[in-house]
Amino acid sequence: MSLYSIRMRASRARSGGASGERPEHISGAERIAAGEAVADLAAELARRALGHAKGQPDNIHVSIEALDEETLLRIPALPARAVSCADAATGLRLAAALLRETGVPRPGAVIDLLLNAPPLRGAMLVDADTLERLEPDRERGVRATRMDMAGGAALPPAPDGKQHYREAAVLAAKVCAAPHIIAELCISDDPDYVTGYVAAPGLGYVRIQRLKEAGSPRGGRVFLYRGPREAVADTVAFLERHPVLVENVPPPPPFAPESAPAPASLAFVEEELAEARAAGLFRSIEVFESAPGPRVRHKGRDLLLLASGDYLGLAADSRVMAAAAEALTAYGAGTGGSRLTTGTLPLHARLEAELAAFAGSEAALVFSSGYAANVGLLSALCGKGDVIFSDSLNHASIIDGCRLSGARVVVYPHKDMAALDRLARAHQGRRRAVVSDAVFSMDGDVADLPGLTEVAARHGLITVLDEAHALGVIGRTGRGICEHFGLSGPAIFTGSLSKALGADGGYVRGPARLMEWLRHKGRSFVFSTALSAAPVGAALAALRILRDEPARVARLQENAALFRARLREHGVDAPGETAIVPLMAGDERVAVAAAHALREAGILISAIRYPTVARGAARLRAALRADHQKDDLVLSASEAAKALSRARTEIPPPVPEPRCRC
Ligand SMILES: *Cc1c(COP(=O)(O)O)cnc(C)c1O
Repeated sequence: MSLYSIRMRASRARSGGASGERPEHISGAERIAAGEAVADLAAELARRALGHAKGQPDNIHVSIEALDEETLLRIPALPARAVSCADAATGLRLAAALLRETGVPRPGAVIDLLLNAPPLRGAMLVDADTLERLEPDRERGVRATRMDMAGGAALPPAPDGKQHYREAAVLAAKVCAAPHIIAELCISDDPDYVTGYVAAPGLGYVRIQRLKEAGSPRGGRVFLYRGPREAVADTVAFLERHPVLVENVPPPPPFAPESAPAPASLAFVEEELAEARAAGLFRSIEVFESAPGPRVRHKGRDLLLLASGDYLGLAADSRVMAAAAEALTAYGAGTGGSRLTTGTLPLHARLEAELAAFAGSEAALVFSSGYAANVGLLSALCGKGDVIFSDSLNHASIIDGCRLSGARVVVYPHKDMAALDRLARAHQGRRRAVVSDAVFSMDGDVADLPGLTEVAARHGLITVLDEAHALGVIGRTGRGICEHFGLSGPAIFTGSLSKALGADGGYVRGPARLMEWLRHKGRSFVFSTALSAAPVGAALAALRILRDEPARVARLQENAALFRARLREHGVDAPGETAIVPLMAGDERVAVAAAHALREAGILISAIRYPTVARGAARLRAALRADHQKDDLVLSASEAAKALSRARTEIPPPVPEPRCRC
């Protein structure tokens, strides 16, 4: 059965206009249909033209054109949401914020461009960074055509509002599938239709209730382009000629407030959120619809996951899940008490004993999270009059523990043992401690254990290492940093049960006497309800698997080495030596654009930017798993290299800003 594109355009000669003037556009619509539906649809489109609110056309052009079925592309609709807003100014602010989220650096200027352009039949094609107009015919613009909803011909004509929605959803999906288009902004030029939208590949299709005041004829579309100039023609050809059917267009979502504005007493919340948006640092929460694994379900798609702390694939291991279920059934959902009152179960004691034995400590103490373990230990160890030396790249939970302790915190440059030595000589105090990530969470490098041990011994420092990304990850059998260096290390470690052990919770391990003391002094241990049975049961089962199946650790290490080697072959700077592989980007926009492109290619690697890392040190942060397939890693490395180099060539160097020294 052959397919046809049916397109209608209705216009009227301008009254009193000179004879050479373009006629006034009244309406246009199009469908894609097979054989017998074509004639009815052509008639329906003609009827629409005749009944249009803008008035009687004097020319209705209906064209019917056979499509090449070979080239027909079927794409999924974008996820849709609809945001209500009280007035156009609020709507425009929201549109600007959404554009900024998609990586458009000057959204306000894009909106101005759109609202001040003379009416166009098509859309403006605009360079997202320089705002240069790129379309070959600037009087006409680019017209996205030859598209429809899959199965759309079977649908009854919808009431006008729904028709607007369907057509826009189809157009937005096609535009976002076009090469090098990073976002679209649409404000209708129909004076009576104030709803518009922002669409982008990572964002979806966001309808905004009011983007202009009723009665204003100003509006249009902007397609934002980021790519080489020589590829503009391909983008235009795709938009104008490539037949596309959009599948699974969702029903129109109801308008809902983005969220209620904060009450007056919380005005600073509004201001700070607006600042975050303006700086491109607004965070939204993404929802994943499956357990972590080498692949995860996200917005209905399966993505290759290189962004999870579940290094050994234990979070969804059937034995670990069964142990969690068994513990839950035996002991209930919650413990109902602190560890010091009624919250301790036999499972807590067993986990503490086996964890200490596995990792090579005398004893361990389970906390409700790794965060709580760091905060509880550091704030107990040190106080007023004490000094804590802290690596400049330490995890936030260490930083918070240091602050909460009330001790003087002396930050030493990352892994700089000579500097630590100097600072330890300069800063005296009652008790003194040095604290460091064992494996740095954003850089994937390993602390200098031999150096730390030596400096700590020289100055009599208590040494604390956070092994959240080291246990189960480094050392031949996953026993962590001491095994990695073949040394017996410092006395005190903190860690998490939520990374390689795939469960939930945290711990401190060290001398038994210290654990006894911490039971009294660790406030996050004393004043928090005991970790519930299910995660404790899960962590215990996972620990036993780690102990009995060291081959998992070897596979993880091989995978990380393979991925790094491939990246380096592609010329990507991938420092570090553990399961965390940073792909250095520098510019925040490059990291975000590359992560977007990878997401489009079905690969999830997170972009990390300020404040998690320093400004200008943005990166993609890949986290490997023992259960990744080699082929997938080879592909991911090459896609990541491609995405980074493309993002670099497409994004102009940043406009230098005056440096703020606050
Ligand atoms: C994740 C992490 C923590 C916190 O552990 P949670 O169990 O997630 O609270 C602490 N330190 C480092 C280095 C981490 O990466």
